[in-house]
Amino acid sequence: MGEPSGATTVAPTGTTVRHPSRPGTEIFARAWAKAVSGTSYLPMTLAQLEALLQRLTEQLATALLAEPIDLRVGHRVGTELVAAHIASAEGLGRTVEVVQLRLARDLGLVDEEVEDRLARLLAAVTTGYARALRDRTLDEQETIRRAAMTARAEAERALRSSEARFRHQATHDPLTDLPNRTLLTERLSAAIDSPTRGAARLGVCFLDLDRFKVVNDSHGHQVGDGLLVAMADRLRRSLDGHLVARLGGDEFVVLVEDTTGTDDVVAVAEAALAAVREPVLVDGHELSVSASIGIVEREVAGTSPGDLMRAADSTLHWAKAAGGARWALYDADRDRRDLARYALSAAIPTALERGEFYLDFQPLTSLRDGRVLGMEALVRWRHPELGVLRPDSFIGLAEETGLIVPLGGWVLAEACRQAESWAVGGGPAPFVSVNLAVRQVRRAALVQEVRALLRHTGLSPERLQLEITESTMMSTAEESVRTLRMLADLGVRIAIDDFGTGYCNLAYLRDLPVTELKVAGQFVAGLRAPEARADERILASLVSLAHALDLTVTAEGVETAGQAERLRAIGCDAGQGWHFGRPDSAERILARLR
Ligand code: C2E
Ligand code: MG
Ligand code: MG
Repeated sequence: MGEPSGATTVAPTGTTVRHPSRPGTEIFARAWAKAVSGTSYLPMTLAQLEALLQRLTEQLATALLAEPIDLRVGHRVGTELVAAHIASAEGLGRTVEVVQLRLARDLGLVDEEVEDRLARLLAAVTTGYARALRDRTLDEQETIRRAAMTARAEAERALRSSEARFRHQATHDPLTDLPNRTLLTERLSAAIDSPTRGAARLGVCFLDLDRFKVVNDSHGHQVGDGLLVAMADRLRRSLDGHLVARLGGDEFVVLVEDTTGTDDVVAVAEAALAAVREPVLVDGHELSVSASIGIVEREVAGTSPGDLMRAADSTLHWAKAAGGARWALYDADRDRRDLARYALSAAIPTALERGEFYLDFQPLTSLRDGRVLGMEALVRWRHPELGVLRPDSFIGLAEETGLIVPLGGWVLAEACRQAESWAVGGGPAPFVSVNLAVRQVRRAALVQEVRALLRHTGLSPERLQLEITESTMMSTAEESVRTLRMLADLGVRIAIDDFGTGYCNLAYLRDLPVTELKVAGQFVAGLRAPEARADERILASLVSLAHALDLTVTAEGVETAGQAERLRAIGCDAGQGWHFGRPDSAERILARLR
């Protein structure tokens, strides 16, 4: 043997270190690379692929030899494969094949248990893989997830063929000794395929601890593991008679067979939540945790383990989104709506390409002399099937998926392009006010883009105003504040949108490069009633504080002449709302002005 071969990893400090690798790693990694190269488009060279797979091989080998076997490594490897775009059905299939055939042999592992451990590790890899794919777009996800399930079935088949004395090990989680995913899937399939009675029903509770990561991060993995063991014991004891499985991490599933309706499963979920809620002592730390549960209860006929678990998984997310420490019940309509929402956001890039978005504008009118000071750009989507969509039905989604960046970029460019030609008789042309989402403000490239846009369109900087919501302002990091400052230095105006709906205080604003407050419509709505003295006083002091900080104040949602008059009396600078004009095309608004 010559020089020991070495795997290259990047240490957290950013320096590159070489450490000797297990003999055979390189040979195996090369075989693996050969197997997967060409299965899908990979944005890397063969050498890079080999280096990546060598690192993953090292991790697999270490996990395989650890006692107890560390299945989390399997999940991680699955995740990394997806991240590295080895994300085709064929790529996963070949990975399973090559690991099964060669890994133990190439690494010289001849332990009699190794085959069994390898099968479990592979099951973990495919699980991690499937999870990572969940984040991908719907179409891509469906095809590949099916492939991942086939691969997992393959790994599980290998499990089943292993010797009987390893049966327990293969079907139980080494940390908590609860049934694992394999056994759960088996029991689920059995309950579905051969129901004991005529119109049998069954249910599952998909339980996930809330903020478990915080426990791990603040007390270390040992305490985290201890907590999982304690929770497993409690669930086992308090849900006697029902199969309690651990899927991995902090995810548990309770299978409730032979149910008569949702109430049966809700009772089990309540018992599980109560069991988790009791404080627990782990390594001298008293921990209080809560959990969220997704409940599905349905007829056995026409469902499958995959369907059931996917539904339970979505439902779990609803419970989490509602704040955790609770259960949620599956609702097919909501699930369909979620999917439709998801599909809608996935359609944004194509819609941009096809020019389905357009802008309406709404005037910001001076309360002193009635002049139009500016116009806010409001995006609309002329959807070929759903008709004209208002921003509320797609902006939130676009923010979640990150598609707000290209969409918001288009809005900004289009707004500047149109505004450049606005002219109203003698006075200065109105500025254009554009809403920015938090994701856009977090991008350092924003300043460059705005500068290029101004140069390109010829719009002067003081005729561009950027609206940032109060919550965005509060959640932006130091870096985004710097971005805002650079934008302000360009001469661009910065407004806080929907002021009063969050918890921003004016003292904080003093240090920010803000020029205008847009007070949320709900405060203005309070002025409707003749006896609304308190609302009026609050608004009046807000306005005088803002003026003391050199900020102008625009009131949103002004719907009546009465409101406009009171706002003027209070000292508000400008108003926006139906009273002054509904959102419309810039052409029509300008025509009216002339
Ligand atoms: P916003 O920025 O607070 O915009 C004002 C919203 O209030 C607009 O709704 C407008 O049509 C509505 N409105 C105006 N006057 C009145 C009134 O007198 N009474 C009532 N009840 N409502 C009034 P729209 O167009 O549906 O926009 C909703 C939100 O969507 C906007 O709230 C803004 O946060 C967001 N949005 C719109 N366009 C964009 C965009 O291009 N990018 C981003 N990130 N967000 C946008
Ligand atoms: Mg706005
Ligand atoms: Mg607003």
